[in-house]
Amino acid sequence: MTTTVKILLVDDEPFALKLLARQLAGLGYTNVVATEVAADALALVASGNPIDLVMCDLQMPEMDGIELMRHLASVGYTGAIVLVSGEDVRILHTAQMVAQSHHMNVLGALSKPIPPAELSRILEGLAGCVKTVPKRVSKSYSAVELEHGILAGQLVNHYQPKVDVASGLVQGVESLVRWGHPSDGLVYPDQFIATAEEHGLINILTDAVMTNTLRQTRLWLDAGIDIHVAINVSMDNLAAVEFPDRVAAEAKKEGVPLNRLELEVTESRLMRDPRAALDILTRLRLKRIGLSVDDFGTGYSSLAQLRDIPFDELKVDRGFVHGACYNPQLRGIFEASLGMAKHLGMRTVAEGVEDEADWEFLRLTGCDLAQGYFISKPMPAERLSAWLTAWEIRRPGLVR
Ligand code: C2E
Ligand code: CA
Ligand code: CA
Repeated sequence: MTTTVKILLVDDEPFALKLLARQLAGLGYTNVVATEVAADALALVASGNPIDLVMCDLQMPEMDGIELMRHLASVGYTGAIVLVSGEDVRILHTAQMVAQSHHMNVLGALSKPIPPAELSRILEGLAGCVKTVPKRVSKSYSAVELEHGILAGQLVNHYQPKVDVASGLVQGVESLVRWGHPSDGLVYPDQFIATAEEHGLINILTDAVMTNTLRQTRLWLDAGIDIHVAINVSMDNLAAVEFPDRVAAEAKKEGVPLNRLELEVTESRLMRDPRAALDILTRLRLKRIGLSVDDFGTGYSSLAQLRDIPFDELKVDRGFVHGACYNPQLRGIFEASLGMAKHLGMRTVAEGVEDEADWEFLRLTGCDLAQGYFISKPMPAERLSAWLTAWEIRRPGLVR
């Protein structure tokens, strides 16, 4: 099979260029140009030459790979990037993050010598993205607009399943808020949660999410769907000492047992008043409400949190999950997190399980629960029942 994809190779070592071009040809990629000089590569792209993929070495004498990516971003390159290097894999990983920070479409990073299977796996990502990299429009909303939307009942929850890795059985769902904006359509939380936190709207936002979630849970329980529900709470919600009582009262009103409810806490910044938060978190646990450390591995003081707070679930951030089976660094961090959680008697959840390889990896590591696009994307409540039926047929743990 040959493809029309145009690939530009940049490496100061002529032998490496030849070798890579040959490997690509073997995979059907024959429309390849190669240069030993990063400045020439840049000139080619800047001249408007339609390049779909740049594969670039990091260590180059005149202009290194990081500089080249920066310049490519500034000339408006929208194709894909693959980084190649003989350096430490961790440098490669960091370089990948640099490229992502320029909003570049990074397919992956490869260590030299490049294993053919790895090359072919990474290039599989090319099919879906050639010249169609959608730039997510990021509009910001004022606090006044947001407050109006919340009070007008425009927030809706989508729900993403969490499943048991060993059996494939559904343990629960996580509630993820969206704003059904009257003119902009469905707006995602990364476009309004920070505003809610900064302008003192997070309590009314969480209350709305909580009420919608609890009402929906009651409907599911009544329909015989036996699940747990998780709600995301911000550290700012944990500044109000009456929070646990409010949650308990609301759950009672909607008729949902407290042990069905889990709160996922992300520490996106340092706790302003750690003592109040400790008081609140401990009281939530005393009420048998589940507590989960969200985005584990990315926060400010994850280890101190584990020591001090009676969390019963640890959710490893998706940055350490997807692709961990191919990357010894990610795998090391993932397994260490799991080991720590087990020692502390906590249940483990891996988020960002995007493909079968991620799922198989989890089975081997003994992680308890999994969540991610491989299982399901977040969906509106009314779709859950049909999804459950479909999952029952396809679920990996099913003995047929
Ligand atoms: P989170 O709690 O870490 O939620 C997971 C996010 O990852 C969700 O994005 C989900 O759609 C996405 N995701 C799930 N599976 C996969 C996967 O396999 N691959 C990839 N790449 N992504 C996956 P979403 O819905 O846009 O939410 C973003 C963040 O907004 C959430 O991150 C959470 O921190 C925050 N958030 C959502 N709802 C609420 C809420 O009600 N209250 C608060 N305070 N924060 C919320
Ligand atoms: Ca979460
Ligand atoms: Ca997360």
